[in-house]
Amino acid sequence: TAKTHHRGSALRYDPAMSHDTRQRTQLLEQLHHALADGELYLAYQPQLALDGRRLVGAEALLRWRHPQGLAVGPDQFIPLAEQSGLIEAIGSWVIQRACRDWAWLQAQGCPLPRVAINLSPIQLRRPALVDEVADALQQHGMPAQALELEITETVGLPDHLQTLPVLQALRKLGLSIVIDDFGTGYSNLQRLQELPIDGLKIDRSFIQRMLQSRSCERIVETIVQLADHLQLRVTAEGIEDEAVLARLQTMGCHEGQGWAIARPMPAADLHAWCAEHITRQARSAN
Ligand code: C2E
Ligand code: MG
Ligand code: MG
Ligand code: MG
Repeated sequence: TAKTHHRGSALRYDPAMSHDTRQRTQLLEQLHHALADGELYLAYQPQLALDGRRLVGAEALLRWRHPQGLAVGPDQFIPLAEQSGLIEAIGSWVIQRACRDWAWLQAQGCPLPRVAINLSPIQLRRPALVDEVADALQQHGMPAQALELEITETVGLPDHLQTLPVLQALRKLGLSIVIDDFGTGYSNLQRLQELPIDGLKIDRSFIQRMLQSRSCERIVETIVQLADHLQLRVTAEGIEDEAVLARLQTMGCHEGQGWAIARPMPAADLHAWCAEHITRQARSAN
């Protein structure tokens, strides 16, 4: 049936698909090596308070320095890691590395108020995640308030009962939790109210089109108002130009990130960027 076909059990009877499967198997094998051989790193994208442009944090985005120079982005390899179970190991690595990078930046005289990391829904099924996060924070002398976890709205209903206690325990550590890509996934407003969260991140598809499409602009406005009513912080991602940033600021959107501010960059470059940003800010304040 079409269903088993999609699940992959009929894959080997379809030559075109079996080629695809072979490629994925190969990429997955390379990803295992990437993790072991240090080919992964985190790129940081600065996040600003839109009012006043103060640096409030940075989102850690996973990057793969592929040995053959292949450009494989997280949108490609994260789903693969999720399907294979490798996401557990990769996710743990990300937690460790983000805390380590934060401590390194701190030591360089570049105190980042907050680092946000992306969590896969699969990681939230493991109660041991809580200790893992607590240990990483402690090991690097990082206050929990400096860590933010981004979870996707699609963290599905079937997982709800299993996921909720994990989220609650994580938040009890003192860190913040935000819903990523808000507006694209499963929106159960009742559930949103029950979740132990601190903020919403508006999906970049709306932000990118908001000046061209009146309906996208209305969606953004509505999410900003919703966040306001629920007393949640609201962040816009994918701000590609100043005009969008200005409009978001007028709407009352609290924070933002995007190419108009900065592209994701290695921790070492973030250090220099922060210094320049502070100078820029001081200049514009005078
Ligand atoms: P996301 O968490 O929604 O991240 C935002 C994506 O938008 C990033 O893509 C970022 O590079 C991109 N972006 C930022 N500003 C702009 C802009 O102004 N314009 C445009 N066009 N794009 C912008 P990236 O880095 O390719 O990551 C894609 C997705 O992969 C992320 O979406 C996230 O869901 C996932 N991901 C990345 N790192 C991790 C990780 O460490 N763990 C997990 N589980 N998922 C990750
Ligand atoms: Mg994110
Ligand atoms: Mg997002
Ligand atoms: Mg995303």
